[in-house]
Amino acid sequence: MCPNCNVPITTRVEHEAGTMTWMLCCFVSIFLLCCNFTKDVIHYCPICQHLLGHYRRPCSSRIVMFVALVIGIPIILNILLAMADSHRYYG
Ligand SMILES: [Zn+2]
Repeated sequence: MCPNCNVPITTRVEHEAGTMTWMLCCFVSIFLLCCNFTKDVIHYCPICQHLLGHYRRPCSSRIVMFVALVIGIPIILNILLAMADSHRYYG
């Protein structure tokens, strides 16, 4: 039952890219946008398009931490190696 138009409906479900998804997008790729893994779930009334519910994925922050670690560690290692190299060359 839609609270807006009072018509018995089955909610239309859409997956919208949330803030976390866009943050991840900066680091990872379009791949995560293609699956619904990190997306927010939004329920609309199919008749009046009234927003019925917005559910955030609670695991998103954990995924961000995981991706940050997976991507961050090699970058930090590269920086450290580059520093070590420059030290070797110029020191
Ligand atoms: Zn409605």
